[in-house]
Amino acid sequence: MSDCIFCKIVAGQIPCTRVYEDDAVLAFMDIGPIVKGHTLVIPKAHHDPLTAVPSDLLARVIEVVRRVAAAQVAGLKADGVNVHQSNGAVAGQVVPHVHFHVIPRFADDGHRWNWKAGRYDDPAEPAALAERIRAALPR
Ligand code: AMP
Ligand code: ZN
Repeated sequence: MSDCIFCKIVAGQIPCTRVYEDDAVLAFMDIGPIVKGHTLVIPKAHHDPLTAVPSDLLARVIEVVRRVAAAQVAGLKADGVNVHQSNGAVAGQVVPHVHFHVIPRFADDGHRWNWKAGRYDDPAEPAALAERIRAALPR
């Protein structure tokens, strides 16, 4: 995709700080880290959203996510790791080339997710929603 910023990074037209690269996957430092060490993992080929990524390629991307998370713990001495992935502007996605955020977490990093747990008022509602999801699961 000629106007995709992450495709331009893959092509070397925009610089990045590389963490890992193979024939299908690139990991590089996020320029706006939520926590220092924040790394992005992408397929080199342009795919978006997550549901459009071929399963075999997605497996390779997730394996790199796993390895980067392990390296943040072993190399940066992270106390924990968040893996975050957004699809669609309504979900907060800014760059429409599928990517996983791998964010090292430290006891004193000061970051807090704005995670407000809701609740179901009608106890039948989660079951009804689960059935709709179950019925639509791709094979
Ligand atoms: P998202 O909101 O999930 O689409 O996240 C996009 C991420 O890409 C943000 O965390 C940005 O800081 C990051 N980003 C945007 N441009 C660059 C770039 N040129 N190099 C590294 N990271 C970038
Ligand atoms: Zn792209």
